[in-house]
Formats: sequence, structure tokens, C-alpha cells
Amino acid sequence: MDQTAGETDFIIVGAGSAGCVLANRLSENGRHRVSVLEAGDSDLAPRLASFFVQMPLGYGKLFYDPKVNWMYKAEPDPGLAGQADHIPRGKILGGSSSINAMVWIRGHRADYDEWGQAAPGWGWDAVLPAFRAIEDNEAGADDWRGTGGPLFISENRKGLHWIVQDYIKAAGEAGLPFNRDFNGAEQEGAGVYQMTIKGGRRNSTARAFLHPAMKRKNLNVITRAQVTRVVMEGRRAVGVEYLKDGQRLVMKARREVILSGGAINTPQLLMLSGIGPGSDLQDFGIPVLVDNPNVGSHYSDHHGINYTWEMNVPTYNDILRPWWGKLFVGAQYLLTRSGPLAKSINHGGGFFRTRPDLERPNMQLYMQAFSTLIPRPGERPLLTPDPFSGLSLGLSNCRPSSRGWVKLTSPDPLAPPSITANAFSTDEDVEEMLAAVKFLRTIAAQPSFAPLVKRELRPGPDVVSDEAMIADFRQRSGTVYHSSCTARMGADAATSVCDPRGRVHGVEGLRVFDASAFPNLIAGNTNAPSILMGWRGADMVLADARA
Ligand SMILES: Cc1cc2nc3c(=O)[nH]c(=O)nc-3n(C[C@H](O)[C@H](O)[C@H](O)COP(=O)(O)OP(=O)(O)OC[C@H]3O[C@@H](n4cnc5c(N)ncnc54)[C@H](O)[C@@H]3O)c2cc1C
Repeated sequence: MDQTAGETDFIIVGAGSAGCVLANRLSENGRHRVSVLEAGDSDLAPRLASFFVQMPLGYGKLFYDPKVNWMYKAEPDPGLAGQADHIPRGKILGGSSSINAMVWIRGHRADYDEWGQAAPGWGWDAVLPAFRAIEDNEAGADDWRGTGGPLFISENRKGLHWIVQDYIKAAGEAGLPFNRDFNGAEQEGAGVYQMTIKGGRRNSTARAFLHPAMKRKNLNVITRAQVTRVVMEGRRAVGVEYLKDGQRLVMKARREVILSGGAINTPQLLMLSGIGPGSDLQDFGIPVLVDNPNVGSHYSDHHGINYTWEMNVPTYNDILRPWWGKLFVGAQYLLTRSGPLAKSINHGGGFFRTRPDLERPNMQLYMQAFSTLIPRPGERPLLTPDPFSGLSLGLSNCRPSSRGWVKLTSPDPLAPPSITANAFSTDEDVEEMLAAVKFLRTIAAQPSFAPLVKRELRPGPDVVSDEAMIADFRQRSGTVYHSSCTARMGADAATSVCDPRGRVHGVEGLRVFDASAFPNLIAGNTNAPSILMGWRGADMVLADARA
């Protein structure tokens, strides 16, 4: 039963990748009452969207569905030829882990050593045991991977399209050897991603962490409850105000309020609560409690692009496009939980360096055994690929130096904030992207791949000069959905929003654990580090509650 107001020990704002993990672990010992307020609905609500959440390739159907997605639109970005990018974010139990592409990548160990330098306690040696404890990895346990944890990770070896092997061979011929585990000793190489998929169904944090914990009497999850403000008494967070069914309600927290609303909504909520860039808040008539210009700053994201080829051999286009093929894969999925619908959009992957002198990969590869453009509003959904045999090789940068920002547009908590990625705004980001897209063509030109190719479609054979290739990636690339760092952790209060234990500088009783708290962006997809935030955040909150 929903308890729509009242008092609790811990309030968690947002049941996303980090929030579901916090809810599970903070309620585990039974000593604390934990309440989760989630703006979206249940991932199990009786509606078609819930089916597409569970079915892995249903991903394409969630991309523009406002029932499960905040559907943010970025500001026109000069780095993206003036285009305003579509920024999907999950608005549902499981958050973005309920609408994401399910790739399981932790990031490079050196990324975490950099985290540890900015925020002591988050270095690789500290986070590796947590990653191992989180996982129930189908690949088995070793020095890097874990088994027996709450989150099943599929090794993703079975039922792959045969052309994935040709991609892996071609990458090897291009100098990028096979890597069987990007989360193991070495990140570099080409191979197949591990996935948060279990039994042919998406393994979101709602499924792996929240639903099992919802049986506990001390955990209260309230859906369709949008938090509008943190309630402060002096400099102490004592609760939150939220909207539910058109009513404005207040919930009090005896211990702490934890923000896990993600990299767009968490800084928005901090600013609405008087914590942020003072002059911006004053412009909107919001009383300034803590003047901290870091709130909403340091916005970091990966940007990516696909190169697409028409092929001489059948790809998933040939089965996913015709009506009879849809019928076949639909029946295959419903009857056996297998086939293309049980897989992520990303069938192969990899990490590479654009210069040999780099110490670690700076680019991530994606291989799709079918072709579509990266979807933009009004374009075809992923389940209707191109009307010919085609495939795409794509990539995104790993550690871009461009930084953007999230700002309020209004004191109205229901007004979307403005988001500016400021993509490719540094010379080094442009240079490495140029070198990277050239490597896609190098892979396609290898003996194991070239005979399968009929012709390059996008960007096409006319795009050869550096200028044309840069213009092309500015025009066609976009976010790969890894917004982060907008309420970043750090030991230095002058350059961060919260301390290494997630405590917001300048106030008490308020923490942040989600992708906004990343000290910086890791090389790879951001679900695993967001889950890590929730996992280690819970350890810290519980330890401090005992002290
Ligand atoms: C389309 C897409 C594809 C992606 N693909 C991958 C991938 O393949 N692999 C990977 O590792 N990562 C991927 N990511 C990124 C990854 O999923 C996210 O980085 C991660 O889930 C972020 O976790 P979080 O806890 O910070 O926020 P989220 O998981 O986004 O959770 C935030 C939650 O808070 C709720 N909320 C926000 N504001 C409020 C409020 N005011 N009141 C109440 N509730 C609120 C939201 O509704 C949401 O449920 C993808 C993301 C997207 C969107």
C-alpha cells in the first residue's frame, strides 16, 4: 500500500540504476524505514510499454515513449552542427536501466584511479570488490568478475548473428585483437559485450534489486510521485515535497534524504532547493541556501556515430523488416525467449586507441548486425530497419574533454531544465573523433569483411577529406546517453558538489548517489558505475548511521 505522506528514516529520490540498489541495501537489515519516491510508473504496470521494457530489443520502442521516458531535448549545439539532441532518460522503476541498451561495462581501472584521486575511497582497489559483489556473472568468478551477487550478467555468447565473427576477425586484421572480456584484465580489443539480460528478459535494477526488496515491510516505494524540492530546516535536509495525483505532499526524513534522480534531474532538484549557482537561482527568485557554481556544471557525455554499409549477405534487416520475419522473430521470442528480440541492439563491440602512444583506449566500438540511423524524432524505430541487407559499425569517445551544463529554465519544478552538451568543443575531441571514424573504414576494408560489403551508404564514398568527415560527424553524431558529473563528488569543496561520501557540501542530511555524482566520466557505458554508486553509497550511509 502506498503511504503518500508521513515520516521515514531515509528518503531516496528516484528508483533508477543507483536508487534501486540503495533501496535494496538500506532496507536489508530491517533497522531502517526506507521510502523511495519515483516520478515514473512501475515497470510491471499493465500496459504495452512494460512488455517492451522486458523484451531486450523493445529498446527501440521506448526511445520516444513519454510514458517511460523524460524525453529531454538539448539546446541546439554548435558542435553538432546546431542540432538539438534527443536525450532519453528512464522515467519508470529501474530508471534508465529499464530503457537502456543493456551493455555491461565497468570502465577502465585507470578511470577509477582518477576517481580515487578526486574523491578518495573510489579508486580501483576500493571499487573492484564492490563490482565483484554486485555481479552474478555467467562467465564465472575470477580476479575481476564475481558470482553470487544480485545482478545476473549474461556472457552473451549464444545466438549471436554469424556476421559478428567476421567483424571480430576483421578487427583483428586491422590490429585490434579479440578480447573475451572487456571487464577483465584488459579493456582493449574487439569482441562481444556482456549484457544485463537474464532468461531473455532485461535485467534492470528494478528487476534485480528493487522488486525482491519490495517484499520487506520497512521499504515503501511510491510511484508517480515527482519530488519538487528538498525541505530544509536551516541547513539540514529534513524531507521532501512531492506531487502525487495532483496533490502536493511532504514526507519527512528522520535521518537523510538521498538524491538518485540522475544527471539531469538531480542538479535540477538541488537548484530548486536553493543549492546551485547563486546568481542563476536569484534570477528565478529562488532563495540561495548554498551558492555552488558546480551544480549543473561539468556535464560530461559520450558522443557517437554509425557508419553503415549495404551488404552482399543477409543481416538482421532481412528478418526484422518483412511482416513474415516479424511474425517469426515474435513467435521465437514468445515461445523460446531467444532470437534477435532477446538481444541488445549491440551485437559486437570493442575498445581501441586512436594513437599508439595513448596508455588506454579512448574509443568504444559498437557493431550492429542490422542498419538504421541513430534514431532522431520522426524517424523509423529500431524494429523497422533498412529495406536491404545492411549493417552498421559505430563508435563513441571514451574520455572527451568537452564539458557542458544543465541549467534551470524556470522555478517551476515541472519545467524541463536546459541541457547543453557542448559536444566536440575542444580540438582534441575533434582530432580523436576524426582518427576514430577513419578506423571504422579500416575495419570494413579488411579481408574478412570487404567481400561481404556491397557499398558504403553513410556517410558514403564522397565523404573522404578530413573536412568532410568532420562535417559529417558533427552533423550525424549524437549522445550515446551517458550524461554524468553534474553534481560531482570531490574532496575539494571548491570544485565539487558533494564529498566522497556523497554528502552535499554546505548542508547536512543530504547526499547524492547516481551518475551526477561521478567525479568524471569513465570509458564505457554508465549503468555499471551508476549501480556502483548505489552499492558503495549504501555502505557509506549504513556505516555513518552506525557511527
Ligand atoms: C537510451 C539509453 C541507452 C543506454 N544504454 C546503456 C547501455 O547499454 N549500457 C550502460 O551501461 N548504460 C547505458 N545507458 C546509460 C545508463 O543507463 C545510465 O547512465 C544510468 O542508468 C543512470 O543511472 P542513474 O541512477 O544516474 O539515473 P537513472 O537510472 O536515470 O534514474 C533516475 C530515476 O530518478 C527518477 N527521478 C528523476 N527525478 C525525479 C524526481 N524529481 N522525483 C522522483 N523521481 C525522479 C527518474 O524517473 C528515474 O527513474 C543508456 C541510457 C539510455 C537513456
